[in-house]
Amino acid sequence: MRSFLYQRATDPGMAVQALSAAAAANNPMTQAAAQPLAGGTTLIDLMKLDVMRPAAIVDINPLAQGWSGIEPGGENLRLGALAKMSDVAAHADIQRQYPVIANSLKLAASAQLRNMATLGGNVMQRTRCSYFRDISYENCNKRNPGSGCAAMEGFNRMHAVLGTSDQCIATYPGDFAQALIALDAMVEITGKAGTRSMPFAQLHKAPASSPEIETTLRPGELISGFTVSGRWPRSVYLKVRDRQSYEFALSSAAIALDVRNGVIDDARVALGGVATVPWRAREAEALLKGQRFDDDLARRVADAAFAGASGRQHNSFKIALGKRVVARALQQAVTMEI
Ligand SMILES: Cc1cc2nc3c(=O)[nH]c(=O)nc-3n(C[C@H](O)[C@H](O)[C@H](O)COP(=O)(O)OP(=O)(O)OC[C@H]3O[C@@H](n4cnc5c(N)ncnc54)[C@H](O)[C@@H]3O)c2cc1C
Ligand code: SF4
Repeated sequence: MRSFLYQRATDPGMAVQALSAAAAANNPMTQAAAQPLAGGTTLIDLMKLDVMRPAAIVDINPLAQGWSGIEPGGENLRLGALAKMSDVAAHADIQRQYPVIANSLKLAASAQLRNMATLGGNVMQRTRCSYFRDISYENCNKRNPGSGCAAMEGFNRMHAVLGTSDQCIATYPGDFAQALIALDAMVEITGKAGTRSMPFAQLHKAPASSPEIETTLRPGELISGFTVSGRWPRSVYLKVRDRQSYEFALSSAAIALDVRNGVIDDARVALGGVATVPWRAREAEALLKGQRFDDDLARRVADAAFAGASGRQHNSFKIALGKRVVARALQQAVTMEI
């Protein structure tokens, strides 16, 4: 392992300053010379693999007192970026009012990881593309810009079918982000100029011609929390994977519905495991609004969700699988008792 500087930030200003000092203006956050350290469950792994090589890590855990709140009170929900995945998943009000959040977290990783890992670190985790994580492969545009992509003609069973480019087909691997996308969440960001807020849907960038730039965070910025407006008791997260625990999604769906007198008044559909970024299926949502649910509608919605999908040699099965996941998740959401 390479040597690096370890700094412990005792207040947000100090964290931002330490990160900004090391950040080059043209360096994407995920490759910056200084990286924030939260639970460390991904960052330290990638440093051991020599994929990430920060010269400094800035431990932000001392900020937990202010940044780990779980506040479901009133009509809005606020979650601190340093809240542990396990604490949020186990919170009774989150389970009741935002089951899609609780389940996306409960179905992620393993109990040990969830006890250690934070919400901010979870949404900032990097792809599990095996060519990205193995530096013996030179061709990875995300790790080594301009070098090509070994996955295009390689073993791409886990890769994306939506939001891909001719530069990168890596899947966004997390689960929680789909719940945030489905709930129209906002992300709070702390930087040199104070705190700003933007739709969470604007945080991740599809690969296009620069797969190494994964988020819209500016140099030195940190995620400090997430907010959701309203309550979504009729919401589900359905995840299909190769084994029942400790595994990333092959395909997942986050659904949130508002059903009044049997008619769908509002609908949110987000997809995981199949796209390069947390994916909102707006065309699919439009078909649901104002309708009564039945199997035919579920099929049409699922088809619409994957209308733009294109598979490669080993991952085309995700299109048929993903449609079934959407249809089943919708059925679960419509029939759940609230
Ligand atoms: C074997 C295994 C299986 C897994 N399975 C799943 C799964 O099924 N589903 C799933 O969703 N995840 C899964 N994970 C990923 C796991 O959930 C993440 O490792 C974890 O959520 C990361 O959180 P952390 O706090 O440990 O982040 P860290 O490792 O500390 O940080 C991760 C990245 O985020 C950056 N970062 C951390 N906090 C902030 C912040 N506040 N603002 C800006 N940047 C920040 C860090 O600099 C780093 O680049 C798995 C991991 C492993 C090892
Ligand atoms: S899919 Fe993306 S991350 Fe994987 S090898 Fe290709 S460029 Fe790298």
